[in-house]
Amino acid sequence: MNIVLLGLPGAGKGTQAARIAENKGLVKINTGDLFRDNIRRETELGLKAKPYYESGGLVPDEITIGMLLSRLDAPDCGSGCLFDGFPRTLAQAKALDTALNSKAVEIDSVVYIEVPEKELIARISGRRSCRRCGAVYHEVTSPPEQVGVCDRCRGELYQREDDKEEVVRNRLLVNQEQLQQLLAYYRKQGKLEIIDGDRDVESVNRDLMQGLERR
Ligand code: AMP
Repeated sequence: MNIVLLGLPGAGKGTQAARIAENKGLVKINTGDLFRDNIRRETELGLKAKPYYESGGLVPDEITIGMLLSRLDAPDCGSGCLFDGFPRTLAQAKALDTALNSKAVEIDSVVYIEVPEKELIARISGRRSCRRCGAVYHEVTSPPEQVGVCDRCRGELYQREDDKEEVVRNRLLVNQEQLQQLLAYYRKQGKLEIIDGDRDVESVNRDLMQGLERR
């Protein structure tokens, strides 16, 4: 089974992706995480992606698609993937279809987690991430026990460069235009499920699982 999770930054894709991947036994592929890892390790790909990443813009398709295709070739992807943060453009969606079709599989379901923009800005600008283990907190809705310190590994919590409010607004704008095209593309393929993401994690997860069971 191959599933695409769509949603603007802050819609809760990461949280839901982890749960679905575990529940369905899928490998989670998150292009934002792949970029962060490459930027941290200062790989050639990371250096190319860094300026786009830091401004909150999209990394160009040729870099992103190349990275995704090599990830898809890894042996662990054989029994199905959950795509989180990819595709973000129509060209990426088409490249993904082509790559999967060449392996005689296809996307089975596309789930869009819908959240109003005002709520997204509040969610993202309060987000704090652990430098060491990647755990995510929120200043207001899920604060760590000690300010600035990860509960899990005691690592330092920081605000991602692209989670700062002015960058967030740009990210939402950039992503909104592309998102509409993606929704139209998958709607036409009859694969789109829309879930109301402006609720607690459990309710969203329940709807999401039910949506996937219907497929
Ligand atoms: P995320 O963690 O999904 O919010 O992604 C963080 C940043 O990585 C984005 O703001 C983009 O700069 C870059 N990025 C992640 N996924 C993609 C993608 N599919 N296409 C282009 N850029 C991406």
